[in-house]
Amino acid sequence: MARYVFITGGVVSSLGKGLASAALGALLQARGFSVRLRKLDPYLNVDPGTMSPFEHGEVFVTDDGAETDLDLGHYERFTGVSARKTDSISSGRIYTNVLEKERRGEYLGKTIQVIPHVTNEIKDWISIGDDEVDFMLCEIGGTVGDIEGLPFFEAIRQFAQDRPRGECIFMHLTLLPYLAASGELKTKPTQHSVKELRSIGLQPDVLVCRSEQPIPEKERGKIALFCNVRPESVIPAYDLKSIYEAPLAYHRAGLDQAVLDAFGISPAPKPELSRWEDVMDRLNNAEGEVRVAIVGKYVQLEDAYKSIAEALTHGGMANRVRVKAEWIDAEIFEKEDPAPHLENYHAILVPGGFGERGTEGKIRAAQFAREKGVPYLGICLGMQMAVIEAARNLAGVEDAGSEEFDHEAGRKRFTPVVYHLKEWVQGNHRVERKLDDDKGGTMRLGAYSASLKEGSKVASVYGSCDIEERHRHRYEVDNKYREPLEKCGLTFSGMSPDGRLPEIVEHEGHPWFIGVQFHPELKSKPFAPHPLFAGFIKAALDQSRLV
Ligand code: GLN
Repeated sequence: MARYVFITGGVVSSLGKGLASAALGALLQARGFSVRLRKLDPYLNVDPGTMSPFEHGEVFVTDDGAETDLDLGHYERFTGVSARKTDSISSGRIYTNVLEKERRGEYLGKTIQVIPHVTNEIKDWISIGDDEVDFMLCEIGGTVGDIEGLPFFEAIRQFAQDRPRGECIFMHLTLLPYLAASGELKTKPTQHSVKELRSIGLQPDVLVCRSEQPIPEKERGKIALFCNVRPESVIPAYDLKSIYEAPLAYHRAGLDQAVLDAFGISPAPKPELSRWEDVMDRLNNAEGEVRVAIVGKYVQLEDAYKSIAEALTHGGMANRVRVKAEWIDAEIFEKEDPAPHLENYHAILVPGGFGERGTEGKIRAAQFAREKGVPYLGICLGMQMAVIEAARNLAGVEDAGSEEFDHEAGRKRFTPVVYHLKEWVQGNHRVERKLDDDKGGTMRLGAYSASLKEGSKVASVYGSCDIEERHRHRYEVDNKYREPLEKCGLTFSGMSPDGRLPEIVEHEGHPWFIGVQFHPELKSKPFAPHPLFAGFIKAALDQSRLV
């Protein structure tokens, strides 16, 4: 059975709980333990799949096809452990399960209540797969005191009681605000937050205190005293230049030691931190800079493309170069010539997206990249746009478009070079979907294999012809355009194993123009940059040496 660390937050949200959890996961691994990280989200959406990226940031997709919170992306990037459906739990999912069980009569006529039925359901989820790892790290979304969060806090309290003593600990993140006028760090909000936790029966074992200013020993002692935590378990967490500093910074601050102490694991195995030292070495000792334009729609909110931003950084690390990624609103190119906007970049990336807005601009960006020989990486919608561009401007299908946009507009305007997929094969079974199914989970989601064409650019990028990547889309490039497009130089260099679904396209004779139907950014790690991002940044570097 695993040992459990429950991670909660207080004072304010956005303190970096996800990052702290992920860094702790990495540090426990560095000590030789196996870990799994889990996110418990109190909101009522069944999963984040239906949430706007503006509101909730990116939707992170797992191999097994779950649409999850972007924190799971951090977990994977820091630990390399592939997240599963069961690692992301929301109140919506819990209540759905409870209500379904009630309808099936599984509660045998009982009155269904938050305690014990909802809390039991939460506890059941928490313990899934706990015989597989040494440590299970469960982060509770939101902050202590949120009404929606209460069943989760109650469930973890009960959970710790149900287990043998010493198998569960609680780690709480808070903020120490700095009052410039008096030059003081204030501990009162932290005291209140811990008081709130204790009032619902949870005593933190480790306190992580975010602060912009150094925390004096005296204040650390005061926090320890008032919050009933050992002084060495009050861990300062200062702002970092890069999130990848977090494992080493938390290690220096004593986080992993405090956690192992709280479990009474002594002597603690020595940490092996060379992976993170190498990551930092690559970040700190990068030479030069390449500029990448990301032409997209959700440009105001960086979290909407979190994994892409991170994967670009990893691509830079693979080439020991800094990557400066700038977001450009695709709609600009619907009114203006892209050339003056894009000329200053060494590479262009068109990311995934939904809906028609901005797509004509993305098509023009793809055209610019193709015509000018600028490295291009098209991801999902970005691949579809590159195919539509080639169909219109090279293959003579002037009104080429995607069925997605006609469906949205409610009238037919385009020849559907990209069409709605209604059935496909996953592994050994057939999947069927209709456009008007429920919004959740109607997409081709999760890991699918693809076969790459020998001798293609993408096969050399991967160094293999068999790959597996994660998908999240409803529409698909229509394979019947393969022949006319290939005649014009757009090779279909990756296909689903049954040869029906185009997975990758690339322009012959172009220095580096690749469109992929999947999301490679989801699998990139700082210590194992994704080959497509490493290759893309290498191409940008070559481009920067040309100009
Ligand atoms: N909107 C497109 C589709 O559903 C692309 C989705 C995406 O980029 N993730 O196929």
